[in-house]
Parts: sequence; C-alpha cells; structure tokens
Amino acid sequence: MGINVSLEKCVGCSLCVKACGQNAITIADKKAVIDMAKCNMCSACVEACKKFGAITITKDSSAKIDVNDYKNVAVFIEQHEGKVAGVSYEMLGEGRKLANDLGEKLVAVLLGSQMNDVAADLVKYGADKVVYFDSPELVQFRDDTYTALVCEFVESDKPSILLAGATAVGRSFVPKIAARVWGGLTADCTKLEVDTKRRLLLGTRPAFGGNLMATIIAPHHRPQIATVRHKVMKAAARDESRSGEVAVITVDAAKIAKINERTKILDIVKEVATTVNIAEADIIVSGGRGMGNAQNFSLIRDLAQALGGAIGASRAAVDSEWIPYSHQVGQTGKTVCPKLYIACGISGSVQHMAGMQSSDFIIAINKDPNADIFQIANLGIVGDALEILPELTKAFKEKVCA
Ligand code: FAD
Repeated sequence: MGINVSLEKCVGCSLCVKACGQNAITIADKKAVIDMAKCNMCSACVEACKKFGAITITKDSSAKIDVNDYKNVAVFIEQHEGKVAGVSYEMLGEGRKLANDLGEKLVAVLLGSQMNDVAADLVKYGADKVVYFDSPELVQFRDDTYTALVCEFVESDKPSILLAGATAVGRSFVPKIAARVWGGLTADCTKLEVDTKRRLLLGTRPAFGGNLMATIIAPHHRPQIATVRHKVMKAAARDESRSGEVAVITVDAAKIAKINERTKILDIVKEVATTVNIAEADIIVSGGRGMGNAQNFSLIRDLAQALGGAIGASRAAVDSEWIPYSHQVGQTGKTVCPKLYIACGISGSVQHMAGMQSSDFIIAINKDPNADIFQIANLGIVGDALEILPELTKAFKEKVCA
C-alpha cells in the first residue's frame, strides 16, 4: 500500500495540506511532500486533490481499485451448528433498506454444510441472491477458510457494500477480508445509511470514548465494509411471497485443507452460561445511580421478578458495585432490544442510550422532568423510583395472580 504524489499533476495549491488531519503534508518547491511517518492513509488528501488527481493511494504498485466496478449490497450470514445467528437477520433487514435506496440487489453469503434449505430461506428474509459455500469442513468457523472464501466471493461478485455482525466471529475475520481485498472497514456501527448521490455507505459509530458519534465513509475502497452489534437494528421480517436465486458452490475438501494449513480443531468446549443474558430478554427492568444504594436495588429485582424479566443497570450502578458488570447496558456493556425496557433512576447518557434505544417500548422513571431519558421514552413517569417501584410491583403481582 502506498501513497503517491504526481509531480507533473501537482500544482502546489496546498488544498491537501488543509485537508490533512495528521499534519503530514508540506509544500516544498511548489509540490506536495508527504511525511510517511505521520500519514495514516485516510485518503482525505486524495479527496481534496480530486480536481488535479495528483495524489493517489494504491494497494501495491499493480493493484488499483475502480469503485465503479463494484455493485450490490452483500451480507455475511453467520451460522452456529446450522442455525442462522440473530444478528444476520438484522443485517438482512438493514441490507435490504440500503439496497432499495441504491436500487441494487441484496446478496447473502452463507458458509456451512447441509444448509440448502436455510440458504433458500434467506430469500424470504430479503435476499435477491444467496451464494452458499457448501462443505462439511465449513460447519465450524475457522478464520483462514472463512476469510479465503468470502474474499473469493468479493473478488467474483464485487459487492459495493459488505455487512457482518460485530460478533466474536465477525470481529475476528472481517478485518482480514478488508485488508486482503482493499476494503474500507468501519467496525461496530450503530447506524447505517447511504449517500445515494455519491453512492457511499455512511457508517456511524461512537468515537473518542463515546463522547461523539462519527460518520465514516470509504470513498476509495471497495467493498465498503461495516460490522454492527447484535440487537442494534431490527431483524428482517419474513415474506413468503419473495423469490430469488440460490447459487450453491461445493467446496472441495482438498482446497480447504490447503487454505487451512495453519489450524486444526481438536475439541470444541461450549461455554456454560452462569450469568443472566440480558441481551436475549423480552423485558428488562434497569436501575441507575438514582436508586441510591445496593439495598434499594432489590426494588429493581422485585419488579423484574414480577414481570418475568431480567435486571439491567447503568454503568454508574455497576461502578458502585450494586450489581455485577454482566448486567450493564450501554456502549461498554450489552446492547439490548427487549419488548419493554423500564429505566429507573437513569439519566439517559449517550453511552447508556446507545445500548437500549431500539427497545420496542421504553418506560422511564426519574425525579427530574428534564432528564434526557424522557426524550426517547414512550412513557415517562416523573417521580421517586423508590416510591413508584413498590407500587408497580404490587400492581403487577395482583394482575398476574388475579
Ligand atoms: P446519573 O447520570 O447520575 O443519573 C441518575 C439519575 O437518577 C438522574 O437523572 C436523577 O434525576 C435520577 N434520580 C435520582 N434519584 C432518583 C429517584 N429517587 N427516583 C428517580 N430518579 C432519581 N453508562 C452506561 O450506563 N453504560 C455504558 O455502557 C457506559 N459506557 C460508557 C463508556 C464511556 C467511554 C464513558 C465515558 C461513559 C460510559 N458510561 C456508560 C457512563 C455514562 O456516561 C453515565 O455516566 C452513566 O450512564 C450514568 O448513569 P446513571 O444514569 O445511572 O447516573
């Protein structure tokens, strides 16, 4: 990968100097000079120099990407033991919207074994085409194999956008794909949109410790790749009337053995869940600093129990050691999307809201009528949570027992 200044084309206008956030460019003898120790290849200077085309970034001396060769939105379908991961349905829902906005096709890429029915089913969830790599060797995720085959797909189908879950699997192999195919990766997005005029993916994600939301574009790279956390976006709805194409690619065991020379699976040890999985709960009752102390947190537990829900918490409550970290909701905790989220004594910081704002129905209980949480609540109760919670628990218990 390199960045080059064409001395013939450069007019020394210094637009690139102004565009460079790294202070890596100076003008000497009316020509731009790039300090490679400072340059992070962000391509802002390439954009600024569009009129003259004097600055170019290349993968290597022989490879250059023509962004116009790339089309369609692709979604990597994650599967575990033949079952499609929930995040993949969310990516299909989001991918469908992006493809519609661009007037392009949505392509699902699945790797597994004996999953022909599942592959065909992905069409019902919005895919126009499914590319299914089939081999007994693909049942288990392995970095090298999955990277090689998805790169093979990218090189043959040339999707303009590639989406995947920001799961352990996605986080492990998607950066490798980006590096190999000259893609532009934005990890952990919370929002995806397209600029239809420039045909660019706009990936929004928290930046600078969550203190601001940054929207990132990759104008000179293809595909534009984004990973998104589970439960941030709505899953695609099943539509029986949809039809599409399924391309099955049978992968030869010898080919996989060659790709996968470095690793061998000896055993698979499943994690035993010892803590509540709030990420999967339909109802969450969550407590924040406003609960006052660890004893008062039992009011949260009581209501959660009466509703058959799980217990969530803000970071302030976790930091105060009123409840373990596994219950923390937010940017540095879990992202949740329950049918009902009850926030008690939680102010509604950006970091907390990043983890729960796509809940179906939000009830907020807060003493302060101006608390930010009320801006996203469907129902707001202004008052003392320590008084309101016991009343609510009593009322729900009576309702359930009646
Ligand atoms: P506060 O902001 O102190 O709010 C307490 C609220 O309780 C107030 O609105 C108050 O009016 C109300 N209240 C007080 N008494 C009562 C009462 N008796 N009845 C009703 N209401 C009452 N935070 C998270 O939650 N999750 C994260 O994942 C997370 N990640 C972060 C990552 C980074 C990089 C940073 C910098 C911060 C992060 N935070 C996170 C912290 C976040 O910025 C806030 O500090 C935190 O969310 C505040 O928690 P809180 O709302 O419980 O407390």
